[in-house]
Amino acid sequence: MNHNLMSMALFKHQRNIEVLWSPTTGITSKFIVILLLFLSALPFFAGEKTNNPFGLVIHGGAGKITKEKMTPEKEKAYTKKLQEALDAGYAILESGGTSLDTVEMVIRILENSPLFNAGKGAVFTYDEKNELDASIMDGETLNAGAVSGISGIKNPITLARAIMEQSPHVMLSGEGALEFARTKGLEIVPLEYFKTEKRLNALRKMKSADQEKDPDKKHGTVGAVALDKHGNLAGGTSTGGMTGKRYGRIGDSPVIGAGTYANNKTCAVSATGHGEYFIRSVVAYDISALMEYKGLSLVEAADEVIQKKLVKLGGTGGIIAIDALGNTTMSFNTPGMYRGCRMSTGLCQVLFYDTTK
Ligand code: ASP
Repeated sequence: MNHNLMSMALFKHQRNIEVLWSPTTGITSKFIVILLLFLSALPFFAGEKTNNPFGLVIHGGAGKITKEKMTPEKEKAYTKKLQEALDAGYAILESGGTSLDTVEMVIRILENSPLFNAGKGAVFTYDEKNELDASIMDGETLNAGAVSGISGIKNPITLARAIMEQSPHVMLSGEGALEFARTKGLEIVPLEYFKTEKRLNALRKMKSADQEKDPDKKHGTVGAVALDKHGNLAGGTSTGGMTGKRYGRIGDSPVIGAGTYANNKTCAVSATGHGEYFIRSVVAYDISALMEYKGLSLVEAADEVIQKKLVKLGGTGGIIAIDALGNTTMSFNTPGMYRGCRMSTGLCQVLFYDTTK
């Protein structure tokens, strides 16, 4: 938008100059005034482009993440991967790239890591399969794409984006989504690619101990939200769902308004937690709606939903969010959440635990 305004202004000035430069008119005082105005406006245009706030916030899942249960090796590995994702996303934004490209790229990095419950590190279903969900939303156009219950697609977030941009639909699922991915030439990998020892053990443990009633143990979804230099917001989420899920269960992550939402008027949100509660609370959209209709700030809106509404219902998890001014929040009601942000203000952090206690 800013670019368009800028080029329109420049175009106008150029036309004025052309007219005034015609052999019949020569250099007039009018021309000198316009030229001076034009030159004095240049720093303004340049400044406008570079002074806009931009940045991104990411998460790698919420749950029982505590200092006591963390090893130095694990802490190092998570910090490194989250920082790598933040830096890659920031580089795109810094060079003038879009929030959508940033969200997709960052989530691909996290999907390709076995550390997180998405893509390569996805949890297992009760039948020892990996069924993936993802969604992405563009805050400028309110376009959205989502995929649910798919196997074999290396990067579900890229499929979600392809659905948004190259189909008339918002959500595709299962076999049909795979067929669409094939026609678009997306990367398909053997099912073994998703099988990790760690997740298989988690499933077996869950089956033997019946931890189904303890959802805190199973979160690990990844997500990203970004604000680019052009003032556009985007958000995305990708997950393997919850360990031991059955009967084609779909969580909140691919549900626009529950796990992901973005609107330039308000904010971009990505959630992680016990999906059933997030769907029923329409978490991501609710935060945006509180800002839009009640005038709450980003932090107020997120806390209202995550710390009050969700807690009342018994839902555990958290969200990351960013608004159109570059304010950010990472609100969760679990002991910890893998999370981080990198902003043009210089703020750059990777956090795991609840820092308020
Ligand atoms: N929200 C995801 C789901 O319910 C799980 C998670 O965030 O870990 O599928």
